[in-house]
Amino acid sequence: MAHGHLIPIIDMARLFARRGVKATIVSTPLNAALCSKTIERDRQLGLDISIQIIKFPSAEAGLPEGCENISAITSPDMLPNFFKAIGMLQQPLEQLLEECHPSCLVADMMFPWATEAANKLGIPRLFFNGTSFFAMCVFDSLKRHEPHKRVDSDSEPFTVPGLPDQIKLTRLQLPTYLKETTENEFTKLMDQISQSELRSYGVIMNSFNELEPAYSEHYRKEMGRKAWQIGPLSLCNGDMEDKAGRGNVSSIDEHECLRWLANKKDNSVLYICFGSVFNLPGTQLLEIALALEASGQNFIWVVRKGELTKHADKEEWLPEGFEKRMEGKGLIVWGWAPQVLILDHKAVGGFMTHCGWNSTLEGVTAGVPMVTWPLGAEQFGNEKLITDVLKIGIGVGTQEWSRYEKKIIVRKEDIEKAIAQLMASDETEEIRNRARELKEMARRATEEGGSSFADLTALVEELRALETSKRERKVH
Ligand code: UDP
Repeated sequence: MAHGHLIPIIDMARLFARRGVKATIVSTPLNAALCSKTIERDRQLGLDISIQIIKFPSAEAGLPEGCENISAITSPDMLPNFFKAIGMLQQPLEQLLEECHPSCLVADMMFPWATEAANKLGIPRLFFNGTSFFAMCVFDSLKRHEPHKRVDSDSEPFTVPGLPDQIKLTRLQLPTYLKETTENEFTKLMDQISQSELRSYGVIMNSFNELEPAYSEHYRKEMGRKAWQIGPLSLCNGDMEDKAGRGNVSSIDEHECLRWLANKKDNSVLYICFGSVFNLPGTQLLEIALALEASGQNFIWVVRKGELTKHADKEEWLPEGFEKRMEGKGLIVWGWAPQVLILDHKAVGGFMTHCGWNSTLEGVTAGVPMVTWPLGAEQFGNEKLITDVLKIGIGVGTQEWSRYEKKIIVRKEDIEKAIAQLMASDETEEIRNRARELKEMARRATEEGGSSFADLTALVEELRALETSKRERKVH
């Protein structure tokens, strides 16, 4: 029910189908529409893949009609109803499973009851959370050791105990539910999610071994989870049509976008996008516009439609004459950009990102270094992986969660400084070289003989063996 989860799950289903597995994607009408064309194309190519639709109970849960995706949530007050609606999907899903009789159910973390649903049918449930091993390890340590409870202030850094590297965070950078002292609906849901991860057959990770080896080992050995890492999943989008139509209808014609990039020197364009969920206030967007203009860099900047509707129209915050002055230098995409297509272009040399895991991995896969600007969720953890462990990014200096904040979090001067450091400083070449190496590793991992390719083979073989032994048991 969110692009950041739906997109990798679609990629994953396509990857399974390419391995000769019959893949059925279960989704709701509006979410299914986001991938129906891609799936239809795969079917025409002969893959055994399809979509099954179940209704999303928006009205029954007290949500506006058509509110089926977290990107349509405009205020935190709507979240309890959204989660209620998600919970109501259990019964129709169980009914569908009864009809389809799959060999295995891969379900997103937001469906903790899916483990029970799979158990009823005697099939394994694989858990997908859509984030990094790194973030999973950080959160596990925080829950286990609660280092944030032993500091005197919200801004005092503490070390996250027991990790392969020394990782420092502050209370301001943690999700609210981790700091909650009393139980509420959300903390209960997060507990159910943790429980269902533990009780599931195993975990599928959108990562690759060479990216965060110490953390995938920690997750398996220290945390005792069974996991398969089969990413980067975005790499299953080989051609332009795949990349351009991934996850949504693009607000810019892909050919126009590529023509614009074709006129730019290698590594000269900064791509700015804060994912599919987060809204920045007009005041913050203005600081970004001012910084971009002052930086003198070429840029493609994605401004979400939600950001516009929420803060009236662009005239209220965009500096007068900005688009005219930036003609040829900067391109604003109002709405949805073909992100992977853009990142993969050789003219793109930097990515200002909110550190959502998909974006992070897509940046890594494209070999593009990053300006990190985490906003919420587990993004402050992912930022540490980018800047402190992999050393392929420069932090813009965000200090606290700001998903629904109206205030300016980062000033023009700091944004400009981070851009200059990433795109044109003594460090640039070093960072770029490291990013390039990771890009090569990512590609090798998904090719035959690579680590992710092998993990997917092992998973499919294990599931086939399970199915065979089940059938044999039935015969006897
Ligand atoms: N995305 C895109 N175009 C946009 C915005 C987002 O293609 O204009 C895709 C992006 O490539 C990524 C996903 O949406 O695959 C966002 O997931 P991520 O985990 O980065 O962040 P979230 O949206 O969940 O915060």
